Amino acid sequence: MNFDFKNKKVLMRVDFNVPLDKSFQITDDTRITAAIPTIQKVLEDGGSVILMSHLGRPQRKDGSMDRESNTLKHIIPHLSELLGQEVKFSEETVGEVAEKAAADLKPGEVLLLENTRFYPGEEKGDEDFSKQLAKLGDIYINDAFGTAHRAHASTTVVAKYFDKDAKGFGYLMSDEIENANKVLDNPARPLTAILGGAKVSDKILIIERMIDLVDNLIIGGAMAYTFFKAQGGKVGKSLVEEDRLDIAKELIEKAKSKGVQLLLPEDSIIADDFNKDANFKTAPSDDIPDGWMGLDIADKARTAFTEAIKNSKTILWNGPMGVFEMPNFANGTKAIAEAIAEATKNGSFSLVGGGDSVAAVNDLNLADEMSYVSTGGGAMLEFFEGKELPGIAAMKD
Ligand code: AMP
Repeated sequence: MNFDFKNKKVLMRVDFNVPLDKSFQITDDTRITAAIPTIQKVLEDGGSVILMSHLGRPQRKDGSMDRESNTLKHIIPHLSELLGQEVKFSEETVGEVAEKAAADLKPGEVLLLENTRFYPGEEKGDEDFSKQLAKLGDIYINDAFGTAHRAHASTTVVAKYFDKDAKGFGYLMSDEIENANKVLDNPARPLTAILGGAKVSDKILIIERMIDLVDNLIIGGAMAYTFFKAQGGKVGKSLVEEDRLDIAKELIEKAKSKGVQLLLPEDSIIADDFNKDANFKTAPSDDIPDGWMGLDIADKARTAFTEAIKNSKTILWNGPMGVFEMPNFANGTKAIAEAIAEATKNGSFSLVGGGDSVAAVNDLNLADEMSYVSTGGGAMLEFFEGKELPGIAAMKD
């Protein structure tokens, strides 16, 4: 961040969309802690910070707002504690109340604005709402990678109203982009992408792009069964997207023609029910008996995947290998996380992204063993699909 923030009011988009429990206590503060260095840099330079974020999906089906569950007031005590200072709050995000609170702010002070999504203009990327936000600060900083794929008012449109030299990325956003580019631009090889999770349809674009880039493509999770079925395998009642069988076949052909080693799980832990207490056993992934479903990768697959991972110099991981939320079906995901940790220890670069793989790595206490853990789920996926994220593009003009 090449700015001198002295005496400047910095309008900063952060991603404080953290999970809350029933009594509105924060259950995972990763996104808040990730934004702290940028806030602190402004304060240390002698500037003041006006924070804006969304929280949850406050708009009900009838158009009314669920303010109580989604007010950013829930965040204040923890944010104050992390910053070691009082955080002021404006009950309104734009308009007179917000403008007065911003005007009264002194160097070294922090103001948090109420949830941007309490205003329909936010998600519509409304020009007028964006202009009102822009009025509040001298400089616009975007440090919310998690929402960079949304062309919303506070993430994208607001940037229009700042000169090129009065807007920029915060540390988190810069780190995310830099680390993602380590995978995309001239990576150390072999490069391996590990993609898992539930739906092929969500991941087709990233799979296609990865086939152009990687040496090894590992596919696990429920997605794998669509690929087995596409090749004529028997997958029992495993999760399959029937309408994606053709594309799965095409992707297998594409990988072959590009010389990419496509690794599908040779065997699976199969269960007789989608239930944490279901009976389970091991079976070949393309020969699952009727009435059973694949819920995790089994030993042979773990060994093959682990081997490929340990021989890789650059590793990208998005999506769990099985239903890791249930202990009996979490071991495949665990084995992959451990293999990535070991490869990283031996000098490989590893990037983990996507809500569920990050949750798995955190559950296993392995986050510190990865080179980089992305804070972006959808944003990270779209970045790797090769799309230009609106929140990033907005800084260029
Ligand atoms: P995604 O959001 O697409 O990355 O998918 C993550 C979800 O996929 C997690 O909640 C996992 O429990 C689920 N998942 C992974 N493997 C399987 C599987 N074999 N069968 C059903 N669900 C799965």
